This record gives sequence, structure tokens and C-alpha cells, in this order.
Amino acid sequence: MRDRLELSRKDLNTRRKERFMDKKANKYDIPKRDGSVWPDDICPAYTPREDAIPSIQGCWYCKYADFHLKEERALEVGICNWPKKIID
Ligand code: SF4
Repeated sequence: MRDRLELSRKDLNTRRKERFMDKKANKYDIPKRDGSVWPDDICPAYTPREDAIPSIQGCWYCKYADFHLKEERALEVGICNWPKKIID
């Protein structure tokens, strides 16, 4: 199960890089509370989770986003749960 989880995360990271090349990220003026967020979207409340890559920012790495990162398959579109932290 862990291998499948790692594989799905790798797939998602590859797709994320491809999307980054194709799409401009949305920049919100305020957190998109209870709304859908894409991995490269961002707002001023961005707070990186512990394993975030410092040179890359976006909802994907935000403590307030729920992309089901602890589930078997992560979501391509997450939910912003600001101000409730989802992951540290
Ligand atoms: S997940 Fe984080 S960066 Fe994305 S909109 Fe919500 S608070 Fe802002």
C-alpha cells in the first residue's frame, strides 16, 4: 500500500510539474476558505508544511490545504481549510 501511495504521489508531482509549465497559478487576495484550490495556487496566508520544498510555494505545500496527502491517492484539486491546519 505504501508503494502505491508513493507511486501516486510521484505521478501527481510529475503532473504538477507539467501543469506548472502550462498554467498560470491563481493568486488569491485572501484564503479560499472551503473552496477548491489547485496545487500552484497561493494566497497571503500560505504557511508551508514541514516537508515543503522552500523554493516552491503553493497550496500543495500549505498546512491549510487538504489534498488527501495521507490517503492512498492524493487529490489533484484540494480544499482550503484555512484557518484550520490539516497537516504539519
Ligand atoms: S491552501 Fe493555503 S495558500 Fe492555498 S488558499 Fe488556502 S491558505 Fe491560501
